[in-house]
Amino acid sequence: MSHIFSIDVVKAAFIRSDGECECIANNHKHAGRCNNMVIYNMRGLNLPGGWEAYRQSSDRPLDVGNCRILCMNCYKASLQDNR
Ligand SMILES: [Zn+2]
Ligand SMILES: [Zn+2]
Repeated sequence: MSHIFSIDVVKAAFIRSDGECECIANNHKHAGRCNNMVIYNMRGLNLPGGWEAYRQSSDRPLDVGNCRILCMNCYKASLQDNR
């Protein structure tokens, strides 16, 4: 589930993120965009700077527009939201 995006898509999304969590979920602890720092080589790590590529909409294609770079807190919270 976490590695469904091609690496090119993830890299492009990560560049767009500016190294900050792109989460805008209004039911998380952050107000507005999360903007937690994420570090490219820390993908999948449950540590500050860790992150994962999240598929925003399951009925949209696996392209950059549907890929959100989320810090691990937001990634896990978003998976919960979608249950
Ligand atoms: Zn976040
Ligand atoms: Zn969030």
